Amino acid sequence: MRGQMMDYPLTLTHVLDRARQLYGKKEIVTKAGPTLARYTYTEMTERVARLANALEKLGVRRGDRVATFAWNNARHLELYFAVPCMGAVLHPLNLRLPGDQLAYIVNHAEDQVVFVDTSLLPAVEKLAPHLKSVKHYVVMDDKVPADCSLESVYAYEELLGAASPDYPWPHLDENDAAAMCYTSGTTGNPKGVVYSHRSIMLHCLGLTMADSLGLCERDTFLPVVPMFHVLAWGTPFACTMIGAKQVFPGPHLQPRDLAELIQAEKVTFAAGVPTIWFGLLALLDKERYDLSSLRATVVGGAAAPRSMIEGFEKKHGIKIVHAWGMTETSPLGTTANLKSYQLELSEDEQFAIRAKQGTPVPLVEMRGIDEQGQEIPWDGKTFGELEVRGPWIINSYYNDERSKDSFHDGWFKTGDVVTIDADGFMLIVDRAKDLVKSGGEWISSQDLENAIMSHPKVAEAAVIAIPHPKWQERPLACVVPKPDYKDSITKEEIYEHLRPHYSAMYLPDDIVFIESVPKTSVGKFDKKVLRVQFKDHVMPER
Ligand code: AMP
Repeated sequence: MRGQMMDYPLTLTHVLDRARQLYGKKEIVTKAGPTLARYTYTEMTERVARLANALEKLGVRRGDRVATFAWNNARHLELYFAVPCMGAVLHPLNLRLPGDQLAYIVNHAEDQVVFVDTSLLPAVEKLAPHLKSVKHYVVMDDKVPADCSLESVYAYEELLGAASPDYPWPHLDENDAAAMCYTSGTTGNPKGVVYSHRSIMLHCLGLTMADSLGLCERDTFLPVVPMFHVLAWGTPFACTMIGAKQVFPGPHLQPRDLAELIQAEKVTFAAGVPTIWFGLLALLDKERYDLSSLRATVVGGAAAPRSMIEGFEKKHGIKIVHAWGMTETSPLGTTANLKSYQLELSEDEQFAIRAKQGTPVPLVEMRGIDEQGQEIPWDGKTFGELEVRGPWIINSYYNDERSKDSFHDGWFKTGDVVTIDADGFMLIVDRAKDLVKSGGEWISSQDLENAIMSHPKVAEAAVIAIPHPKWQERPLACVVPKPDYKDSITKEEIYEHLRPHYSAMYLPDDIVFIESVPKTSVGKFDKKVLRVQFKDHVMPER
């Protein structure tokens, strides 16, 4: 017997309709220089329809890819809806990637139109001669600057001004492509991940569940995570679905900009990678801001060290929700929310659990696979590669042969090495390639980094493997002292801090002090650069 319920398509058109019908009075704010630009969802949805008409005039058809090269702002949000809802495919480009990789990505995706913020025009002008499929450029501003060298270039506001505010949104198949992002940080060329309307819609429900992030209408949401990094973790879609007020920081991402914005707009929920929050924490330790509106921030994309979670919470009353995900997982995979019976544990035990990456959100399944291909027990000790599956997890890369190595019996192989405990909390031990393989033992660079970063004089720490004649590899810790301790910090202090918790085998063979840890295009520690920098480092005998 079949169920007798409607086969209602899960498409973003539904989100757009809801926003127009239900949330017309709610605000969308963008930081633009010293001022804040604000308008309502009523205006936003009308402009989305104008934009769809303009895109059609430019020749954009169903399935065509439309790229964006832009900061987090309201026009970018309009593209997030106009492009997928007219049946085309939104493709935000990572504006921090080197030119050759960007050209590869645009050519591989065969983007037809590129939307670009005025401040980013010089990069696109340089890139343009290498872009084979692009027919038009649109500058996201009132006018095209007089000295712009691009051909077939239009101004966003002129296109919208000339377009009708009515657009007959087509009926779409929920499995149609809505957006795509390319992975960063992998070796070789970036790989394309194509999200469907259905996957984004289900992911929106995932983000709004009380036991995951619980985003809701009463929230004022600040995506610090760039809109090119896994679609700002899907949050612009989810916030629009539930009518939350959205606050976009534009290019203003310095800790002071963020603190001022949170204070001025009474932000209740924010999202970003740990690097952003390290900076904000250091600022809050020194200067006073009223951030009492902030009920939580979600931190993911790299490990949120326990010291950071504790620092925000104990000193500033700001709750951190630690989450794990990937471009390939839309990205929400796990969140580290305590279960009811864990609330009875000591504060120390609770922080230890919340610093793990957490339990999978509903509809995502996880398992760990060991080197023999066996599933690891959920004992919190055994290491294995994390595999996941679910309706918002990738099933193949876009036109990419490497897809064949990325799946195992219908599960996606994440490349993350994990343990899973009896309560179902997953802990990322390391990226497989970052583990230090020492004499048959695996040393977790991430674990050591977190321990070093809990030292009060340390701002950041990255641990890398250095080849070793006897042990195969040994850990080297690259440590950034907090500015006040630059001249006084010693290696011995750090060793003393680590010794009570680690055997001699686990301790780094050497510690070097550096100015800053290099960052990837999405703000994570870039250990590739450190590996090159320290490839000839001579470790002392220990
Ligand atoms: P990306 O696709 O660029 O977002 O990178 C995904 C990778 O980031 C994952 O495979 C993990 O290695 C890492 N990652 C994401 N979230 C976390 C987290 N909470 N803790 C540790 N690593 C994380």
